[in-house]
Amino acid sequence: MTDLAVIGAGPAGLAAALAAAARGVRVAIVDSATEAGGQFYRQPASGLRSRRPQALHHQWRTWERLRDGLAGSGARFAVQFLTEHHVWSVERDSDGFTVHALLGPEQRESVAVRADAVLLATGGYERVLPFPGWTLPGVVTAGGAQAMLKGGLVVPGRTAVVAGTGPLLLPVATGLAAAGVEVAALVEAAGPKDLVRHGRALVGKLPEGAGYAARLLRHRVRLLSRHTVVRAHGDDRLTGVTVAALDTRGRVRPGTERYLPCDTLAVGHGMLPHTDLAETLGCRLDGLTVAVDDEQRTDVPGVWAAGESTGIGGAALALAEGHIAGRSIAARLRGSEPDPAQWASAAKARTRLRKSAAALDAAYPPPAHWSDQVTDDTLVCRCEEVTAGAVREAVDELGAGDVRTVKLLTRAGMGWCQGRVCGPAVAGLAGCELTPSRRPFARPVPLGVLARQHDMATEKGTS
Ligand SMILES: Cc1cc2nc3c(=O)[nH]c(=O)nc-3n(C[C@H](O)[C@H](O)[C@H](O)COP(=O)(O)OP(=O)(O)OC[C@H]3O[C@@H](n4cnc5c(N)ncnc54)[C@H](O)[C@@H]3O)c2cc1C
Repeated sequence: MTDLAVIGAGPAGLAAALAAAARGVRVAIVDSATEAGGQFYRQPASGLRSRRPQALHHQWRTWERLRDGLAGSGARFAVQFLTEHHVWSVERDSDGFTVHALLGPEQRESVAVRADAVLLATGGYERVLPFPGWTLPGVVTAGGAQAMLKGGLVVPGRTAVVAGTGPLLLPVATGLAAAGVEVAALVEAAGPKDLVRHGRALVGKLPEGAGYAARLLRHRVRLLSRHTVVRAHGDDRLTGVTVAALDTRGRVRPGTERYLPCDTLAVGHGMLPHTDLAETLGCRLDGLTVAVDDEQRTDVPGVWAAGESTGIGGAALALAEGHIAGRSIAARLRGSEPDPAQWASAAKARTRLRKSAAALDAAYPPPAHWSDQVTDDTLVCRCEEVTAGAVREAVDELGAGDVRTVKLLTRAGMGWCQGRVCGPAVAGLAGCELTPSRRPFARPVPLGVLARQHDMATEKGTS
């Protein structure tokens, strides 16, 4: 039994764990990855013996502080770090919480971590909208390309187009170019006017933006703003993409199509928060994010949330929220009222960064008419091989009015990823709002594990 189980060893989870441990809390961090760092500070596997991992990172000093803290400096109790623990459920009972995790790459054995309190710091995942050819080998997500580079020290190809919308495309395009990939273009659906419209809230982001602009120039990466990829070409793998200009309403401007040869397309349309574990615990959601108060507490006693599960906002915001959560948890577990003055500077940063995150979110919406380009034979749900035509038929001819009914009629979202990849696309094609999907488990769980769980619960009389 530990005091606090932190799920997620990204910036939010690490900042919270260190803040809590420095105040005498016994912490176990649980993460599915083999190394700490999360997405932003993703580290190369130790077997790769990278000599200069910092070459692929920003804000390395901050990472060094987190890494050294995790190794033990500054805490009364060492933080226990459980790698390759894939959390599939968190249960609450009268004595606290049980975090259930599948072990290692096989994910066939489940272990339980008991704790008095839980911090959900599980981050977010990428939204990718389909277009003809998007399932060809050579098409990867923007974050996936970044993860290959940072975690595997490999590049996905020789000539790349980076496309979609959102600030993540900038580090991906410049990162690939710096690693020697010829980046033929950065194809961004938003235009300069979209950014100017939200200029006031983005003033603090100007130096970062200018830095990326300089790097794009240095690597001669062409920026095609207000453009989109309308088709990926190739027989058994990607050979090129057709891109086209968008009008101010997000429609493709006829006659503007052009072909760009490439062997890699890194594509992404923003990010969505992971909320599965919060939902299982019964935490209130605010739209698609976990709702938290000023201390980062959810409305379920003993459960805190920080970082991108509470809203997409970048690593600096995740750090600030984690720091606040860690201090709040330390005070509350001692039974005392925390003093917000103790985290005033983190709270100030949180307010500022949430404002710029909201402005970025508004400036980089997915192109409004993206579904116009999706032909009926385009696969939408890859796990269950459901096409856009089948989704449209479910809506237009069978009367489905929501994502759940589309799922029941077509099987879209019933496969391995449980709708994480296709959910936004199905909602868009069906003309429905994207709502959080209720999933009983955050990961696929072997039936044997569930059966053993049931047997143990029956023995304890809690089934
Ligand atoms: C693929 C990807 C690449 C990105 N690359 C960049 C980039 O290059 N530059 C940039 O500025 N921003 C990038 N971002 C955004 C960036 O991740 C965030 O701003 C920042 O890392 C958020 O921190 P966090 O602590 O909230 O979550 P994360 O850093 O995402 O950390 C969450 C952690 O939780 C773990 N986790 C999640 N679910 C479970 C579970 N069920 N069981 C066990 N562990 C779990 C994950 O393994 C991860 O280590 C990327 C995001 C993604 C999804």
